[in-house]
Formats: sequence, structure tokens, C-alpha cells
Amino acid sequence: MHGWTGNILRVNLTKKKAIAQEFDADFARTWMGGRGFAAKILWDELKSGIDAFSAENRLIFAAGPLTGVSLPSSGKLVVAAKSPLTGGYGDGNIGTWACVMMRKAGYDAFVFEGKAEKPTVVKVEDDATEFLDGTDYWGRGVFETEKELKKKYGNVTGVVSIGKAGENRVRYANMISQEGRGGGRPGIGAVMGSKNLKAVAIKGTKELPAADIKELKKLGLEGYKEILTKPNYKFWKRQGTVSTIEWCQENSCLPTRNFREGVFDQADAIGGFAMEKLKISNRGCPQCNMTCGNVITDVDNKPAEVDYENIALLGSNIGLGNLKEVAHLNRLCDDYGLDTISMGNIIGFIMEASEKKLVLEKIEWGDFEKAKELIEEVANNKSNMGALLAQGVRYASEKIGKDSKNWAMHVKGLEISGYTCQTTPAMALAYGTAASGAHHKDAWVISWEIKHGRESYDETKVDKIIELQRLRSMFEALTTCRLPWVEVGFEIDWYPRYLRAATGLTMTLEDMHKIADRTYTLIRAFWVREFGKQWNSSMDMVPNRWFTDPLTKGSFKGAKLDRTKYESMLQMYYHKRGWDKRGIPTESSLRRLGLSNVAKELSKYVQLTS
Ligand code: SF4
Repeated sequence: MHGWTGNILRVNLTKKKAIAQEFDADFARTWMGGRGFAAKILWDELKSGIDAFSAENRLIFAAGPLTGVSLPSSGKLVVAAKSPLTGGYGDGNIGTWACVMMRKAGYDAFVFEGKAEKPTVVKVEDDATEFLDGTDYWGRGVFETEKELKKKYGNVTGVVSIGKAGENRVRYANMISQEGRGGGRPGIGAVMGSKNLKAVAIKGTKELPAADIKELKKLGLEGYKEILTKPNYKFWKRQGTVSTIEWCQENSCLPTRNFREGVFDQADAIGGFAMEKLKISNRGCPQCNMTCGNVITDVDNKPAEVDYENIALLGSNIGLGNLKEVAHLNRLCDDYGLDTISMGNIIGFIMEASEKKLVLEKIEWGDFEKAKELIEEVANNKSNMGALLAQGVRYASEKIGKDSKNWAMHVKGLEISGYTCQTTPAMALAYGTAASGAHHKDAWVISWEIKHGRESYDETKVDKIIELQRLRSMFEALTTCRLPWVEVGFEIDWYPRYLRAATGLTMTLEDMHKIADRTYTLIRAFWVREFGKQWNSSMDMVPNRWFTDPLTKGSFKGAKLDRTKYESMLQMYYHKRGWDKRGIPTESSLRRLGLSNVAKELSKYVQLTS
């Protein structure tokens, strides 16, 4: 077997024991890596209904056969666990040297299980694993933690750590690396905290495995060069994802005041061109020549990395039109290890609740000081308000009551990311059917939809969503960054070529799509097993607001989604996926994807249709 190291490091935190476990070529070919490995391990090893914060939960770091190789944007790591925020499958990806080092140390994945007795740092250096006392780091921000660990173990060490939010089990705590690269939106950082695992530090010196190293190097270099020739490359380097602010404003989909509107009167002040005036440098993930992290100085004159999602959610969505203030909130969230998307979504929610006098506290739109306070309170679990909001927007709306459920902006408990969808049914369905709740990373269909006509609810849109979910799942499995393909048009055909040079396997895009479908269906089975008979198509619905509250501003004033048409599009989606009317995979589709054992297990929880 080439391309994979063939090893998973099993780390038992309770027993302070780590053992390397081999996997075979069949496992590698069936699940590829990254999200595929994570979904398979979580399905096989978790009992249905376990508490996500129990020692039984698994915390997975997984890479794929292209991770870390010298080819465009390959420095990505999938982190996954049962989510404490949604109760279902949760994952995210993070750009970090830790994944390059993990592979160089001789592993494609780490699986953490059990719970350490006290705060711990796990250090892996090639074949040696140490369990170090992490008490001194507990309570510190991620920036300081990583800096200290690198001082101690050398600058080349790859570090992933959690901040106070993860320690305090905020249900949308993530993990951070390299001062601002975050991942694990559905509370994967909180799972790490529940295991008393403060940080993982990795150093590896081995050669990455490859079937044809010469060819892989050659293709990698050609890929980097190709990216430089793309017409959008120069502009991308200037603005990265931040230009999406202007694009969304123009297209009435910029989340504004808790997704109530799609345009923001101060969009220019937080957009790509405003950012350029403040920009001091670029940061990026390993092996990437598109470095899209834009660094600006915040109100305290400290460097803060901004991108589209965190500006939209901590800016327009909370009515804040000062980019330096937005950057400050973002930096604060990063240092605490809080997911910026969920945090901005929840601040917007509580601002609306305050406006509607559903909470006593006065929290006005655009109030920077108050937003800062809320972040502090959430991360430190400091006040009643902090403790309430730390549970996520779904929980907060259940507690606050009245009609707040209608404008609690989440799907399956995961807060919606950067697009308001009153005018874009396909993007709404992409959120509704994403693997871990409302995340754009599974199908960013909105740009295609706006070009091809946003009004319709037809089959072509359903096909497009599935096509994008397949392609994006492929990136999650390989595991590399999708942005060269999405943003500058780096052709998708490069990837089967890379895979062939890395593994020796000749796989077509269709072969890779089958792996993506298998993984997506297994993830659906995981959700269904957790929810059992409660599972039905309402789990894939998007918030009521998009059906009931028309936009009141901009060129799409009056627009809202049509519920009946959304539901019929959802049924079309199920049919094409081979799922029944409840959104549960049928027995025959499970069999077709090589998941007969999954069908057997799942039938203990729900009745499967044939
Ligand atoms: S394009 Fe951006 S997110 Fe992707 S690898 Fe490069 S720096 Fe990271």
C-alpha cells in the first residue's frame, strides 16, 4: 500500500497509553482518509446515545493520502467527534502544520479515547508518545499555549490546542492552530476539553509515503505554477474571501441583523476594499500558495486575521460596521477557541431577543462593548447569560421561548454560516442537508444558483447540490483544501492525477464520488442511529424566518422562501440520494454502497424501507 502510512495512533488518555494500529489497503480504498476515516471509526466505535462529553466519545484527527504532500493547499486536518452541540456527527477541517507532522511521524490519524485525569498535553515525536502535565497551560489562550509549546519543543512542532471555551465545554468551542486557523465548529474543541486534553504537539521526520515520489513532486510543482496563472489569483491574494462581503451585499444574501436582511448599510466599511486599506500581511495553511488569511490590526493595534465568514457573522449579522472592532471580536474568539460563526450568529440572536424584550438585558445592534462582554461571558462561563449562550442558539431559543424558535438560525443545532437564504432555495437546501448541520463547507451552491436563476426550485438545483457535496466530500477525504478549485478555478482533474502518483491507484472522479456517497450516507446513518424514531424530514428543515419574514430592504425586497416548494425539493434530494421520505437511507442503497452491516445495525433503531 502506497500513499498512506497505514497507521492510526490510538491514544488512551485514561490509561496514558498509545499504540499504533495498522489498517489495510481495503480500509484505505473504501474510506480514503480524513472525513471517511472519521465517519467509519465513529460509526464502528460509538454506542448510540452516549454523552458527547463522556470518556467514551472519540476525538479524531484524520488526514488523507494527499495531506502534507508538496502540492497545492494540502495542509489540512479533519477533526471529528460526536457533537455536543447537535447530538449528531460533527467535523471540521483545520489548516495546520500538525497534520503534516502527524503524517511525517508515521500516522494518517490519531484517535483519542478516554479522559485524562488532569490537564494534559500529548506530544508525539515519530514513534514516541508522551503524556505531559498540561496544568500550566490550562486557562491560557491558544496563542500563548502554542507559542510556549513551540518555545519548548521547537518551531517546527505542529500544535493544535483549545482555549478556555473548550476547557469550559462551550458547545461550539473549536480548536485553533497557528494563530487563527480554526476548525471543528460543532464543538469538537469542547470534546477535547472534556477529555482534559489541552493541546497536541507533533514532530515527525519520516518521508511521506508515495507510489511515485518523482512524479508527485513534478505534478505538485506544476500545480503551484498553474495556480499562479489563474486570472483571479492576484485579486484573491489581495482580498481572499473578504471580497464576498461586497458580492453578498450586491446579491442580497449578506447575513444582517440575525439573518433578517440580506443587505447591510455599512457593508462598504467591512468589505474587501476597506480590509485592504488596513491589511498588514497574509497568513495561510501549510503547502499553500494562495494564503488567504488577511491580517489587519484591531482596535488595540494587535494583529487579527479576518475572513469573510467571521466578518459577516461578527459584523453585519450583529449590526457592527467597524472593521477594527470586528477584527478585535474575531481575535478574542480565536484566542478563546470559540467558533466565530456560531458566536456571531448567537450574538445576533440575543440582540434580536433584547430588541423584542424577550430578555431583560439591553443588548443593542452594533454594540461592540456588549458583544465583547458576551464573548468573555460565554468563554469563561461567567454569568447566567454566558452559560445560556454557551449551549448554542437552539438551546437558547428553547429557554427564551415565545416565537424565538422561528428566528434561531440553525439547522440540526449547528448555527448557520455566512449566507441568508430568503432568495436562494438551493443554498437553503445545501444548509438543510449538510453533513454536520448548517455549514457551507459541504455545498457552497449559492454562486452557481445566483448565476443560473435563484427563483426556481427544480431538479437541476438538487443535482447541483449533490454534485457539490460529492466534490467537497472528496476534498475532505483526500484531505486537502478545496479553495484552489472553488476560488481560482484550479481544475478538478488534477486530483485523480495526484492520487495516482501518491497511491498508485487509478481512480476516476466517479470512483471518488462513490467514496464520497458512501461516507455521506454513513454520516446520515450515524445521525439516524442517534435520533432513532424521532428522525424525520423536519431535521433537514431550515429556520422558519426564511419562509415567513420577507426581506424589507434591497433589490429583493419582499422575497422569502416557499415552504411547500422547499419540501418538494427536499424529497427530490432524498430520492436521488437513495433515502426514503423521512431522509433515512433505504436498505438497498446501503447495500449498493457496500454498507450492508450498517443496514443491519440501523434496523435496530428504525424500520428501514427496502
Ligand atoms: S486557500 Fe486559504 S484556507 Fe485554503 S489552504 Fe490556503 S490559506 Fe488555507
